[in-house]
Amino acid sequence: MAKHELPEVETRLFIDGNWQDGSQDKHPVINPATEEVLTEVHWGGAAEAETAIAAAEAALPDWSTMAPAERGSILTKLADLIEADVTRLATIMTMEQGKPLAQAKSEIISNVENLRWNAAEGQRVLGDIIPSPDTNKWLVQKQPIGVVGAITPWNFPSNMIIRKISPALAAGCTVILKPAEDTPLSALALAELFEKAGLPKGVVNIIVGDAAAIGETLTKSDVVKKITFTGSTEVGKTLYEQAAPTLKKVSMELGGHAPYIIFPDADLELAVTTLIETKFINNGQVCTSPNRIFLHKDIKKEATKLILEKMAEVTVGNGLDDPTTGPLINEEGRKKVEEQLKDAQNKGAKILFGGQRLTEGDYQHGFFFEPTVLDLVTTDMDIFYQETFGPVIPLIEFDDEEAVIQAANDSEFGLASYFFATNIHTIDNVSKKLAYGMVGVNNTDLESSATPFGGIKHSGFGRENGTYGVEEYLVEKFVNIRTAR
Ligand code: ADP
Repeated sequence: MAKHELPEVETRLFIDGNWQDGSQDKHPVINPATEEVLTEVHWGGAAEAETAIAAAEAALPDWSTMAPAERGSILTKLADLIEADVTRLATIMTMEQGKPLAQAKSEIISNVENLRWNAAEGQRVLGDIIPSPDTNKWLVQKQPIGVVGAITPWNFPSNMIIRKISPALAAGCTVILKPAEDTPLSALALAELFEKAGLPKGVVNIIVGDAAAIGETLTKSDVVKKITFTGSTEVGKTLYEQAAPTLKKVSMELGGHAPYIIFPDADLELAVTTLIETKFINNGQVCTSPNRIFLHKDIKKEATKLILEKMAEVTVGNGLDDPTTGPLINEEGRKKVEEQLKDAQNKGAKILFGGQRLTEGDYQHGFFFEPTVLDLVTTDMDIFYQETFGPVIPLIEFDDEEAVIQAANDSEFGLASYFFATNIHTIDNVSKKLAYGMVGVNNTDLESSATPFGGIKHSGFGRENGTYGVEEYLVEKFVNIRTAR
């Protein structure tokens, strides 16, 4: 196979264990590094969503009553199959999404870990026995919530899927998944492995297609008992509203606009190296990406110098060539970055590095943009408040601990936050007061299979990963047994 050739992959919908054509016109999948059409995928709508809901409902009784260890062994088998197929899955992901191959591979590996973790956790869904009067036994049983509707975004097109279906399946639920339209192939490639792992038919169904119609069908159905969504705050609010009449459980992992604060006593080399490494993951198209960089005035000059030195080492290119960072997902994404930069410059911000779209030579096709550093950012600029899904490092100066906490919290979002400091009082005070679901102190590693991932405020609610992630797919049932004769 030539290096830039798409590996063979399904393009149809996966419903009730069958691959089937969609009822609507097929849609092209575009390589964001070349703008070439990779393939066309089948497209479904409300009709397919209804069929998938019926399949998931029919599969539920057997799956939810299967021994947890048996469900666990299917998840473990799936993990093994994914592990054996890393290169193909990662290549598909890089070609449809743009991220460097090494990052695509580590995303696939995180799926393997996640599945193994949940395969084990599903066997530890313990209930409670509550102390009761001698006449009765009070039991709390945790039961699977039922049929789950899952909607996922394009930025982590494989891991976002596994992060939802792995705890859902471990808990005994069945799933209808709608992946993002820009990256359907990563989802379909996973579905090929579901079959091989021995997942019974109907347990997971995947419909690529009309987002609004599928979303509405899933949210309005009384059979679907839970909606799990990762994506924009705007779409999240629509789905939440649509789900209200059926009172279904909802979890929302929405936008973010992470502050990244460097205090004067921080290990500056560590803080700056970590910033550059984290910022260019997936070209900044990450809801936890550091988006507002607050530098204390005493170290701002030195930190800026270090940032600029390290920026010179950042490479941009086709993800298959493994540069530091790839293209943006599409032209719309590139325009949004340009607009934020233009607005900031009009209001007095200064570009210290980059700032332009890349269009020459190897960049002639593809949605490439220069890694950028923007200085003198203030609160009257769009970039201070709007999520930046791109390779921009905006710098903001501060001189007071309480004031910077307030500025960091001055956002509708509340997902990830980061700060670098060594003073124990600063570490305690700032981590307590940052109004975010997650705080990274002297590091940015907020994601593992074992720890709760999620936000507050307009970043949503509910948690993924860890025990908390499995709880999202369970309901508690109280059983009171009268034992007295
Ligand atoms: P992004 O800005 O990251 O593309 P979106 O919220 O638009 O985020 O997309 C995330 C997921 O939500 C995708 O799978 C997309 O197809 C889906 N989506 C978009 N609009 C709707 C909608 N009205 N109802 C249901 N799903 C939607």
